[in-house]
Amino acid sequence: MNKDKLIIAGPCAVENKLQLYNTFKAIHKYIDFFRAGIWKGRTSPKNYAGFGEKALPWIRDIQKKYRIPVAIEVGTTKHVDLALKYDVKQIWIGARTTVNPFAVQELAEASRNTGINVWVKNPIISDIGLWAGAIERFERVGIKDIKTIYRGFHSEKNTKYRNEPRWDLVETFKHYYPNIPILFDPSHLSGNTKHIGSLVQNTHRSINGFMFEVHNNPTKALSDKEQQLDPEEFKLIIQKLGTDG
Ligand code: PEP
Ligand code: MN
Repeated sequence: MNKDKLIIAGPCAVENKLQLYNTFKAIHKYIDFFRAGIWKGRTSPKNYAGFGEKALPWIRDIQKKYRIPVAIEVGTTKHVDLALKYDVKQIWIGARTTVNPFAVQELAEASRNTGINVWVKNPIISDIGLWAGAIERFERVGIKDIKTIYRGFHSEKNTKYRNEPRWDLVETFKHYYPNIPILFDPSHLSGNTKHIGSLVQNTHRSINGFMFEVHNNPTKALSDKEQQLDPEEFKLIIQKLGTDG
């Protein structure tokens, strides 16, 4: 394994107890953090919105039994409070939330003096100021461990990926924040598993780790079905990263 890259993986969304545990058990030997979305800020209200608070006892159980931290997305201060109530100390801010300074400020205030660690996804639109501003809001409330996750930007252009890989903006971000580690999320950038292997192999030099979506049965996934790797595909990608990296 390539130990200098942080590996985060897990389902887009928790759908039920069996899916959560089966996915976790299939990949836990290969990961530093397990991701498990329980609140999904979906573009359309018709889409699956996540299992919610009821999944938090399972997440706490996984952390306790296996000593692997679980990360969840938060969009409201209530989510932060619930994360803390269930001993979740790693949260991430989704790309649709990073664009909103009011929301980010509230999440930052709710995180103050809690010991929580934060990953901020780049904003869905290519505004570097919003990206940097969101990081600064968490810095100002004293969060010590802040990382960012790069997942590309929404674009009107027709590219082979779901989001546009503006690596030039990653360079600019690095210039603003040379000390903030950058994790790369090829699942959301590409929108399709067929691109993930090559994106990982040709990744930018400033990337410090990866976040992957992995589902124990992607063809039946309730969200982001095309981009969720199955555990075997995930393991191959990780092993390749170890050999070639
Ligand atoms: C996610 O990580 O599940 C997600 C919705 O990603 P993003 O906020 O990058 O779209
Ligand atoms: Mn997703």
